[in-house]
Amino acid sequence: MTTTQKVRAAVQLGPGKLEFRSFDRPRTGADDALVRIEANGLCGSDLETFHGRVPMRGGYPVIPGHEPLGVVEEIGEKAAARWGVQVGDRIAVEVLVPCRACARCLSGGYMSCRNRTVTHGYTPVSREPSLFGGLAEYLYVHPDAVVHKVSSALPAEVAVMYNPLGAAVRWTAHLGGVQLGDTVLILGAGQRGILAAAAAKAAGAARVIVTGLARDTHKLGLAREFGADHTLVVDGADAQNTVDLVTELTDGELADVTLEMTPMAAQPLDDALRATRHGGRIVVAGLKGGRPIPLDSDQVVNKALTLVGAYGVDSRGYAEAIRLLESGRFPFARLHTHTFELGETERALATLAGEIAGEEAVHVAVTPGGGG
Ligand SMILES: [Zn+2]
Ligand SMILES: [Zn+2]
Repeated sequence: MTTTQKVRAAVQLGPGKLEFRSFDRPRTGADDALVRIEANGLCGSDLETFHGRVPMRGGYPVIPGHEPLGVVEEIGEKAAARWGVQVGDRIAVEVLVPCRACARCLSGGYMSCRNRTVTHGYTPVSREPSLFGGLAEYLYVHPDAVVHKVSSALPAEVAVMYNPLGAAVRWTAHLGGVQLGDTVLILGAGQRGILAAAAAKAAGAARVIVTGLARDTHKLGLAREFGADHTLVVDGADAQNTVDLVTELTDGELADVTLEMTPMAAQPLDDALRATRHGGRIVVAGLKGGRPIPLDSDQVVNKALTLVGAYGVDSRGYAEAIRLLESGRFPFARLHTHTFELGETERALATLAGEIAGEEAVHVAVTPGGGG
């Protein structure tokens, strides 16, 4: 093995501080693997942690990047047998590395594992062998990591959508329980909101309604390409009232399932309570920066609503999302707007944040080891 080879990585030193460092290429054994990162997707969480609005709980410095996709370059015999993966295969690596041994892991709730050792993109480099983030040329794959094979036929920028589409599938179909013929209301038109429209349609929804801001006009257009039947703008001069529109479109039946996916805003949660039918479900997925927001709990009681928190994505969500990506049923490539090299990570983040004039970003990926 070429143990002397160096691996380049983006390293976050603190809020807003990024530099590039070289690490030793890790040695692998029988039970682990090394992956050359083809692409790492960026999302709103990366912006929150980069600017320090959400702290790195394990401390700094950290190699960020929790949406890694890559090609297996080295893999031990045991790992290859357990994961069903060989050298040359393309894999997605899940964010959490669970212990696989505690009661929660063994009862299928590994997302709630309290013994998890590694969280990709959030683990300090002091933990050997340091390469636990997607914004690096290589990712070390821990023996307890959860991996998924992805078709090499997809462009890397599309294949890496396993992460946001996994969220969309889990939150819409599994947590939301969307059924054939349902009306689904999606509040927020980010990459996950757009993909949730596709997931809802794939799950059998008859009618999908997506809301966004006036500055999201291009995203609402994409939402229609991904299955939204109606889109509405909730702010500015042409603002429409979400509850009124859903009432009108459904003849007062309201939405069967509502996904609240907006960051920071309080109003959409109230809209969700009022626009969802008696006995309906609301999946709460939009983070509000730790700020308590009012909740009209009488609505929950009197309408027999079920509210579900949408923490992360599990294996079933990722697996179904990957099959959906491979099916080509939706124009996934249309969602991808920007690709950056590793050295352009800060520009990638600024582009995603909408800070670069003239750039309308939806899905942004960094391709650290793209050239091979
Ligand atoms: Zn993400
Ligand atoms: Zn566990």
